[in-house]
Amino acid sequence: MRASAILDPTLEQQEPNARRTWLGSRLRETVAYAYDRAPHVRRSFDRAGISPKDIRSLDDLSRIPITRKDDAPAMQAEAPPFGGLLAVETGRLQRIFASPGPILDPQGEGEDFWRFRMALAAAGFRRGDIAINSASYHLTPLGFMLDNAARSLGCVVVPAGVGQTDVQVRIASTLRASCYLGTPSFLYTLVKRGREMGMPLAIEVGFVTAEMFPESLRAELEKEFGVRALQGYGTAELGLLSYECPDRGGMHLHPECIVEVLDLETRNPAAPGQPGEIVATIFDPAYPLLRYATDDIGALAQPATCPCLRTAPKLAGLVGRVGDAVKVKGMFIRGAEIDKALKAAFPAVSRFQAVVTREKHQDHLAYAIELAEGAGAEPGLEMRIAEALREAIKLRGEVRVVPRGTIAEGAKRVDDRRTWK
Ligand SMILES: [Zn+2]
Repeated sequence: MRASAILDPTLEQQEPNARRTWLGSRLRETVAYAYDRAPHVRRSFDRAGISPKDIRSLDDLSRIPITRKDDAPAMQAEAPPFGGLLAVETGRLQRIFASPGPILDPQGEGEDFWRFRMALAAAGFRRGDIAINSASYHLTPLGFMLDNAARSLGCVVVPAGVGQTDVQVRIASTLRASCYLGTPSFLYTLVKRGREMGMPLAIEVGFVTAEMFPESLRAELEKEFGVRALQGYGTAELGLLSYECPDRGGMHLHPECIVEVLDLETRNPAAPGQPGEIVATIFDPAYPLLRYATDDIGALAQPATCPCLRTAPKLAGLVGRVGDAVKVKGMFIRGAEIDKALKAAFPAVSRFQAVVTREKHQDHLAYAIELAEGAGAEPGLEMRIAEALREAIKLRGEVRVVPRGTIAEGAKRVDDRRTWK
């Protein structure tokens, strides 16, 4: 049995009033700094008629204009490469990523730029552990987010990335890897495949993210395979925003940033239990995002003292997305993106619907396609559409041409039929 989780007493056990004061002073400093260096921040403050001097404490937070993730592609196109949000020279960055959208994301200085270290420590990662990292290292930042955090804790990381399940099983088995990083569904795939191949894995702890993590999957991992997995929630541009402690019951808000849950209509803070959009502020000197709206909808948990002694409030969970983006296999898909890809290459397509389902803890994506009047399905059309869509949204999906009128009028372009239990 592993030693109990490591806590950072200064930040994770800070008394709530002291935390408010501390976050307020970080906010004040960051606003002044960002206003001087990030043109978008200056413009949005000037437009709203406020000055950095107006932001003195956490009580002034709501005066800061919200920046929407949805606007990021247009902002970046207008003021490349980072839409006026970057506060340092591009040459000072460590890496630059490209997430679907398309949105460019910078990695600034520091060994744990995205603040995942605390979450991995809470999950049970320890110095000397061998961790297999099955998150993508290709263009999107998750692989490096987890890699950097694990190495900053003194873990040894195997940068396995996405795919090649059998190869990953052999490596994890040979090295007797004790930790896993990546999506929960691939953790399940990996340990199951290990058993099928007669190479049971030695993974004891997992940190999982980028997908829903249903309790049924958590229970199966623990009972069937002896893996204790905890999850975290973050975004490509903001880094980690909340994470589970061993007592679970929601994810503690990360104590080094400000996370708000805002009512979708009034834009006022939503009461615990009420869904709202997650909006976060980070104090990073390279990318000081102020009130950045994530498009994710979540709810805060009812206030309670957590047995783990961490004092930060908890996010009860995520309940959906603003707009039509749906997360499938850890990647966002948007109706607008699919529409664009189809219009560009297949003028015969008149309507489409993407349908997301889930079976045996795995997401499944399929498309129904209707053709314009008079257009016939030529041989190989379904395959060519599937290939073009895979290229455009970076996910494989099954394509089926259906008779005209099959897709209901007013149907969602991306229909998420998954249930989470
Ligand atoms: Zn806790």
